[in-house]
Formats: sequence, structure tokens, C-alpha cells
Amino acid sequence: MMEEVREGIKLAGSEEFNVTGIGMSTGGRVNFEKGLIEDSTSAISGWKNIRVKQMMEERFGIPAVVDNDGNCSAIAEKIFGKAKSVDNFISIVLGTGIGGGIYVDGKLLRGKSNYTAEIGHISVDVDGPRCSCGYGCIELYASGSGLVRWAEEESLLTDIVGAGGEFSAKTISESAGPGNPAAVELLSKAGGKLGAAIAGLVNVFDPSMIVFSGSLVNLGAPYFDSFRETLLYRGMKPAVDDVEILFSDFPQEVGILGAAALAFQIPVENRFQLDLVKSISSRVSTPVIAEGRIWSPDQARAAMELGAYAVCVGTVITRPVEIVRKFASSLTDRDR
Ligand SMILES: [Zn+2]
Repeated sequence: MMEEVREGIKLAGSEEFNVTGIGMSTGGRVNFEKGLIEDSTSAISGWKNIRVKQMMEERFGIPAVVDNDGNCSAIAEKIFGKAKSVDNFISIVLGTGIGGGIYVDGKLLRGKSNYTAEIGHISVDVDGPRCSCGYGCIELYASGSGLVRWAEEESLLTDIVGAGGEFSAKTISESAGPGNPAAVELLSKAGGKLGAAIAGLVNVFDPSMIVFSGSLVNLGAPYFDSFRETLLYRGMKPAVDDVEILFSDFPQEVGILGAAALAFQIPVENRFQLDLVKSISSRVSTPVIAEGRIWSPDQARAAMELGAYAVCVGTVITRPVEIVRKFASSLTDRDR
């Protein structure tokens, strides 16, 4: 991962872009304030209490931010996507599991531990199958893994995809049609269950829009028509009647776009302020020492070029050997 980030920064530099922040989106439980991945999903198993923000900032000298991928999906829709002009909406990411993010009155809901909008873990059957968190969560029926699990439970898999066929949500949806009523029925039941779960959220949060993204936005009409019908039937009227149900413009990229948007929101006081150095250096005749938020040789060089007499590197106190080595190795003859 570090190598890929390094490559990205290099590429941006070669195109003459200045990288001012690193944004990361990940599955699992993220402590947003501390930039800590507390616990991961199976996709990146073993990531427990990883201080990924600190790791990135120390390695690259650029402010970093990390958030849960569901939150990032909602941020992406709000900043770049379908929800740009609405303040209340629910983003639903359909994939192997079900995640999402919720905006209320223009603000992303984070809760006390940044663990909101775990939409996949709304229980739709208190006596249902065991989930990692409890019983009968919607994810066990209406997600990619849930569709396969449910088809297996009802002994429908062979009916749907044939003996020896490949079992996945994609094959189930591709096979759904007049010749395969079992697949149509399963998708319809799954979409309906999700509609019932989301009706509960609509009743609680009063959104004006629901936006779907993720790898399974192509599950097709049996799933999404049933979702819409059940939502309208179960949601409280009249609030539910004018809820728009839309698909993302970039269903596979919501995580990465949301993370990028977060990186742009890193407070300006956390960035190295070139303008400030330039402004002070041009107005006073005494030597100016630029101190704080200077984490990379490039930033130090830029400060000197704008008139700073000397620079003090922000993290020199905590990791003196590492920092000195990094700066010493990047000095050119001109710097010396
Ligand atoms: Zn659950």
C-alpha cells in the first residue's frame, strides 16, 4: 500500500500537481479522530488497531485522513454525486455486504464512535440466522453473500444456476428471467426485505433521497422494483412518497472519491502554509524561521525559496534520527 501511495505522489508531482493530503477509505471500524483502523473486515483481515493516518504522515510528510467506506460513499455522493443539492439522504453500498452513510441536515452522521449507518446489520428477523453481530441481519439476505446464503438455505441454488454452476449474486441476477422464476423470486424477496429495512430508516431520518452504489447496482428490476414497492408500502406516508431512489454516477468509485473529498477537507491549520511564510518574509527585515507542519524536504525547500531564513521540522522531536536521515539524504548541493 505504501508503495502505491508513493507511486501516486510521484505521478502527481510529474504532472506538476502539489499533493496536499492523503485520503483513505476502508472497510471495518475506523476511529476517524485518531486515524486508526480499530478492526477490519474479512477483505483486509488482521488489520487491528493500525495507526494508518500516523503511518502515512510520517512516511510521506503529508496530512492524511482515514474513514469507513460507507461514510466515504455518502461523502462522495454529497460532494460529487447525486446528493450534491440535498441535505438529507441515505447512501447504500451493495456488495458482498451492505454498508452506507447517512446525511441529516447537511451533516454526515458519525455517532459516538464513528459507527453509524451499519445498514447491513439491521435485523429483519430476530430468530433468523446468526450474524457476526446478532441474528437475522438484512445483509444475510440482500447482499451478495446473503443472496447465495439464502438460496442455499432454501435449496434453490441448483434450480437457479444449475448443477455445478458458479454461485454468486452476479450469476443469480444474470440468470433471472422468464426461464428462471426461482432466481426472479429470490431477488424479489431480497429486494423486498431491504425495502422493509430501509423503510425503518426513512421513518427515522426523513431523507429526500436514497442513492445506491457498489458492485451490485446491476442486480436488476426484480430486486430494485421490489425494493421500491416495499419501501413505499412500509414507509410512513406522506414522507416516504417523494423519496427519490437513484443509482450513483460512479458506483464502483464512491470509496475512493469520498476519501479524496475528505483529504481536501483536512483543516488548513494542519497544512504547511506557504502563503504565510511568503507574506511574513516579504514584510519584515529580520530573519524568518518557518516552524511547524513542515514534514518533507520539498516543503522545507519551498519555505527557503519564499524567503525563510531557516526551517524547523515539525516532528524532529519525536523521531530525530529518521527525520534527519530523510532530510540529509534529500539535500542537493544547492541546498547545502
Ligand atoms: Zn449483523
